[in-house]
This record gives sequence, C-alpha cells and structure tokens, in this order.
Amino acid sequence: MSTEKGPNFLEEIIEEDVKNGKHGGRVLTRFPPEPNGYLHIGHAKSICVNFGLAQQFNGKTNLRFDDTNPEKEETEYVDSIQADVKWLGFEWANVFYASDYFDQIYDFAVKLINNGLAYVDDSTAEQIAALKGTPTEAGKPSPFRDRSIAENLDLFTRMKNGEFKDGEKVLRAKIDMSSPNMHMRDPIIYRIKHAHHHRTGDKWCIYPMYDFAHGQSDSIEKITHSICTLEFEVHKPLYEWFIEQLEIFPSKQYEFARLNLTYTVMSKRKLLQLVNEKHVSGWDDPRMPTISAYRRRGFTPESIRNFATRVGVARRENIIDVGFLEFCVREDLNKRANRVMAVLDPVKLIITNYPEGQTEILTGENNPEAEDHGGTRELPFSRELWIEREDFMENAPKKFFRLGPGLSVRLKHAYIIKCEDFKKDADGNITEIHCSYIPESKSGSDTSGINVKGTIHWVSVPHAITAEVRLYDRLFKVEDPSSEEGDFKEYINADSLQVINNAFVEPSLKSAKPGDLFQFIRKGYFCPDTDSTSDHLVFNRTVTLKDTWAKEQKKD
Ligand code: ATP
Ligand code: MG
Repeated sequence: MSTEKGPNFLEEIIEEDVKNGKHGGRVLTRFPPEPNGYLHIGHAKSICVNFGLAQQFNGKTNLRFDDTNPEKEETEYVDSIQADVKWLGFEWANVFYASDYFDQIYDFAVKLINNGLAYVDDSTAEQIAALKGTPTEAGKPSPFRDRSIAENLDLFTRMKNGEFKDGEKVLRAKIDMSSPNMHMRDPIIYRIKHAHHHRTGDKWCIYPMYDFAHGQSDSIEKITHSICTLEFEVHKPLYEWFIEQLEIFPSKQYEFARLNLTYTVMSKRKLLQLVNEKHVSGWDDPRMPTISAYRRRGFTPESIRNFATRVGVARRENIIDVGFLEFCVREDLNKRANRVMAVLDPVKLIITNYPEGQTEILTGENNPEAEDHGGTRELPFSRELWIEREDFMENAPKKFFRLGPGLSVRLKHAYIIKCEDFKKDADGNITEIHCSYIPESKSGSDTSGINVKGTIHWVSVPHAITAEVRLYDRLFKVEDPSSEEGDFKEYINADSLQVINNAFVEPSLKSAKPGDLFQFIRKGYFCPDTDSTSDHLVFNRTVTLKDTWAKEQKKD
C-alpha cells in the first residue's frame, strides 16, 4: 500500500509525456464502464485514478459507456453510473457511448477487409475454438480464411443487412494463427446479434466485439492515456495492431492492478446474482460494495476518494482489508458527523427526586471534533429516561464505571445520578432503574464536588422518538469468497443484517434526512436510510466506533 510515497508509475509516465510535449502536452483520460450493472468500489478506484490523473496534469476525462453488448445493458445502469461519478465529486468533459461510434467502427472493419486483413468466417463457435490451438500449440487456419476481398465485402454487407441468423457468420481479423498470444489468433471482431440496443434500437444486427470497439473508441476521442486493469494487458498487442493497421490516433494503454476488498465479491456478474437471487434487497443494499450502497450507508465521497489515494496504484494483485476502508470513513465522519443520543436497547430509568411533569431544556454540543464545534442543540430532560440496558449491571464488577446498585454516573450533557434501586420481572429481566440526581451537578456548572468516572447517554421518555435501526455486518464469512471452493454464495454471512424495531432517538432527529451524518454517542456512526420518513425514522449503522483496523496495524 502506498501512502505519500512520491509519484506512482502512472504519474511518472504522464509527467514524462507532458514534459516531452507528447500530443502537445495534452492529457485526456476516460472512464469506460459497461452499463451492465451498478458501479462498485473497484470502479471508484478506477474513477479516482482516471479523473485524478487528468486533474493533476490539467487534463480532462471523458465518461464513455462501453455499450457494445446489447442484451445486458440498460438505461437504469447508465443513469446510476452518472449519478455515482458525480457523487464521487468528478466532472467529465464529455459523455460518450461506444454505440455512437458504430458507423465509424463499421467503416474500420470495411477498411480491414479492403486491406485483406479481415474475413467472414462461417464456422461455428465450436469449430473456431477447435482450430484455435493452445498457448503452446499453434492454431490452424479456418477453411474460410482465404476468401476474396470482394466476397468478404459482400458477406459483411449482407451480415449488416440482416440476411443471416445469430451465430451463422462472424467477421475475424486476419492476424497470426500461430501467435503465442491467443488474442492475436484471428480474433472475432464482429458478431451477428438480432437484439434491441438500449440506444441504437434495431438499427444494427451486428455488433463489434469489445476488442474491436474499445481501442477504436479511445482513438476516435483522441484519448492520450487509456488506463485499465491488468487483465487487459494481454489485449494490448491487439489494441496496438488495430491502431497501426487502421492508421488512427495512437492512444496508449497502461494497466494497473484491480482493487480487491476482503469479505466481499467485486464483479458485477456476482453482484447481480446477489440482487437477482434476493440475498440482498438491491444494488444499493447497504451491505453491498457498490457506490450507491456506500452512499446509502453513510460513507462520504471524501472518504472513498481518500481511501483510493491511500491504497495507491500498483501493478501487483492484492486484496485490501475492508477495515481500512472503514477506517477512512470513520476518520472523515469523526470530523463531520453531529453527535446525538440514541438508545438501541432501552430500559427505563426513573429519577425519583426529579419533579414529576417537569421538563428542562439542556444544551448539547454537536461536534467537539469540528472546528466550530458544529453548534449546539436542545435536549429535553425529564424524570423518566431511556438508557441502554447494557449500562446497568445488578452485580457490577469493580471496573464497571456505569450503573449498578449504589453506583454513580454522569448523564451526558445533564446531571450526575446514583442508582438507588431497581425492579425485575419474573424472568429476571431488569424493568426499571431508580436513581437520585444531584441538582448542582448540571453539565458545565458542576458545583457538586463529586467526580464520576463514567458518562452514559440517554433519551427522555416523553420526548423520545421511536426509530428503526439497521446494523450491518460483513456480507461474507470468509476473506475472499471468490477464491474458496464451490459457489461463492455458500459463504454468505446469514447474520449480516440485524434490525432493531424500537430504538429511541432524541427529538432533534425528527427531521433527519438521507445525506445527514450522525454519531450516536458511544454506539457508532449512523445515517438516515432512504426508507426513512418523518413518521417512521430508519437509521443505518455506517460503521462502528471501534477502530479494529488501526489496532491491528499497531500490533504488526
Ligand atoms: P466487473 O468485472 O466487476 O464486472 P468490469 O471490469 O467488467 O468489472 P467495466 O464496466 O468494464 O467493469 O469497468 C470499467 C472500468 O473500471 C475498467 O477500466 C476497469 O478496468 C475498471 N475496473 C473494474 N473493476 C475494477 C477494480 N476492481 N479495480 C480497479 N478498476 C476496476
Ligand atoms: Mg467489463
């Protein structure tokens, strides 16, 4: 993991290019998602790299939808991708679609045919595969490899005109059937697919393959640095072959390692399975590693960008501890989340010497970690309070600095109280705690002369608002579900969602809305879910307060 280690290898390359005046010192990158799913944190990394590098070198970045696969692509995905890139804080120079280039890409194919560099093949997929050879054994030429240019032009036109059925013919580049790189063994560049396309409708029934669309799109847009992940390294010779043969703008491809995270899966195909098979509530289920899920869960764009920068770019595959992402989120929320009080597992506390029916408005500071302390809010206080069940013990051990018979604590922003008595039901559950309070011990004006070690949070019973609270755990039980034996879904954590239906939150949260960020004092960071309404508040736990990741680091 690189942190403030000086320029990474991509920065070095671009810096050198700019210095040498390559492309007139111009830098244009692109982020090229296929609109076949929602973006995940790996894409966030790629977005940060592409947009980040352009910003750094006074360049620009295009958003390009790589939509050459008509069947899997949908407008819903296009919309979500744009929303996610914007939310992350980036602005593209242009939005383009590979499908905008279908005419030009078709012309490129015709040019290859005219130069004797492409041919129509009538073989089936199985026949093509059988002749392809293996990495150690040369392939064999297709019986259709030596068709004349005129025949190829005629057949390709007829493919375009819809005279053939799906799979009946393909167009292949004529390169080298004995190349050690399998991608160079006469790759398929066009296929017949009588399918409706989300943008071009029924105009086309032939579609370019990814390898014949991606690089060409880069060239058409005059992308200077085409940055992608390592799995495309083996496609690079083909990328360059097309540029050379077609004599088009020489975009250059550079690869870096994909981001992988522990306790999750990171491929759209697998995430789609989780959605379709209802293991999660949708693409934005807060347990998913998608950008929309993180947004819903209360992660900030700043923390995700910061995470991406700190992880750095490398050319070696690795897997990052999800705890590090949570650490970045916690660090950011600590500065910006207002502190509020919420009781997740309530038990009633009665202050026996506080006048019945009296309400007092106390003041709470919103965020001691913020520069202006985030202002203050009003906190109604009364004789009956909800406190956390775990803050009381009937037989408290020595170092339990909370409540138990005879023990004293401070109520946050309020008074010091002492436990005098408690009630239990027939099953032994505590039902009521009786305390006395010290009127001179009010926060900020403590003249009681008594010091107590513990402070607990509370919510006034008559003022409390009932809320639903959703607690999330990791979606998978193992670090790397994709590398385990069998289906990755066997490793789903059945207890990854815990719903609390009757938590009590302080009244200032009445108007809380998605996008607001809170720390529930002593409980973690929380945010209103998109399901939340003023009649039925719903909160997500964003992250816990405990910083297990930092502790792990110290141990090393
Ligand atoms: P997936 O395999 O998850 O479906 P993909 O690579 O097929 O991802 P695309 O929409 O084709 O998804 O990717 C758009 C861009 O995002 C590509 O440049 C790709 O290299 C990059 N990208 C995808 N996944 C990651 C990742 N885990 N880490 C970094 N970059 C990624
Ligand atoms: Mg892809």
